[in-house]
Amino acid sequence: MTDTLVEVRNLTKYFFEQDSFLDQLMGDDPVAIKAVDGLDFDIERGETLGLVGESGCGKSTTGETLLRLQEPTDGAVTFDGENIYEMSRAELKTFRRNAGIVFQDPFSSLDPRMTIGETVKQPLDVHDWPYGEDHERPKSELRKERVKDLLNRVGLSGDQFDRYPHEFSGGQRQRVGIARALALDPEFVVLDEPTSALDVSVQAQILNLLNELQDEFGLTYLLISHDLSVIRHICDRVAVMYLGEIVEIAPSSDVFSDPQHPYTEALLESVPRVNTDERDRDVETLTGDVPSPRNPPSGCRFRTRCPSIIPPTDVDLSQELYRAVVTVRDRIRDRDIDVEGARELADGDNPKAVVDRLLERVLDGDITRQPQHEQRVRDALRAAIEDDWEGAEERLSVYQSVCEQVTPVLQDGRTHRAACHLREQPDHIEADIDELGRNVPQEADD
Ligand code: SF4
Repeated sequence: MTDTLVEVRNLTKYFFEQDSFLDQLMGDDPVAIKAVDGLDFDIERGETLGLVGESGCGKSTTGETLLRLQEPTDGAVTFDGENIYEMSRAELKTFRRNAGIVFQDPFSSLDPRMTIGETVKQPLDVHDWPYGEDHERPKSELRKERVKDLLNRVGLSGDQFDRYPHEFSGGQRQRVGIARALALDPEFVVLDEPTSALDVSVQAQILNLLNELQDEFGLTYLLISHDLSVIRHICDRVAVMYLGEIVEIAPSSDVFSDPQHPYTEALLESVPRVNTDERDRDVETLTGDVPSPRNPPSGCRFRTRCPSIIPPTDVDLSQELYRAVVTVRDRIRDRDIDVEGARELADGDNPKAVVDRLLERVLDGDITRQPQHEQRVRDALRAAIEDDWEGAEERLSVYQSVCEQVTPVLQDGRTHRAACHLREQPDHIEADIDELGRNVPQEADD
């Protein structure tokens, strides 16, 4: 039987641009930046859940929002049965004792004017620890004793109480950050990229320390990292995040041995291999940038970079050429086609010559062996140079993928879940796909 400590439901955090009084006066509508968009997951008591993804995917915002360091736009986070967004001031204070955070940068997260002893003692002062008034010795003495004990436990020395951060290395400063996070004996700690600012040789020491402290203090961790090797080191389960959404969640061993989402596969492929046999492997690594969270792609948000995007059944192009045509179509939609540049290169206004130049510049691949598709792309570019952008879009509308029309979701009731149309999807999603009359190839399901 599981024992859930943290329950996250539909957690959503948008930031808004163009939201000032002046913008309102000017009649501008606020623009939502969808940093975190409808997350659902649980963290069991005593486990370490890893949250992994490229930078900018919303991992840190998730960590801060589920500690209520930021207010959510929507959703609920339940800690030990209580919704933290509905807590009174007194309840929130108790929650803050039970939930700590270790930040990424041990250089900027410590106040250079405070000794490390004062830094670790600060939460004890704020929360008036030890609680209550009936103690054998003065609180100041008990606090100092606790700080020295914590410094010893994280591999420093109680004798270093009066030393300043600049006297310590990066790894030692991160140990101070960990001691501060543990000062009030929390049950739950968010570790936000705790080793990414450290040398590789020091990273393993800090991860081992976190492992030992978890056993010693009975801690539950949310470990945020962009680095899968860090995740592999200490996590029981992994949630993979892309552009504000979780795309795969499963026990760690399953994610590493049998990834189900193309994004997870690509992340795993980008991890350097120690084994020399594997170094020359033919890999599909991630290309392109993460799209803007202001205007995320429709359907599957990973589709603009997915090496396995599903073409319509009647489109007989290779995956590479299909993606190249879709890129042209998207650039036409975004009016991102340099017609004037092509005219200059064509040295005149001959439409065929301009289309030839455009084709060379915007289509990444040789489509000449596919005359039917080549003609469609040429017709679309011809419409674009005639300033008929809607007509250009229309000519390439046949290339629409199911991946951009129907949003895949994480399946319920499984330990290994992936939001991808190549995996079995719930009935209502399959019904939406049927309605579109699209066939989706099914890969082996777990
Ligand atoms: S739904 Fe389509 S685009 Fe998204 S990951 Fe799966 S195959 Fe790729």
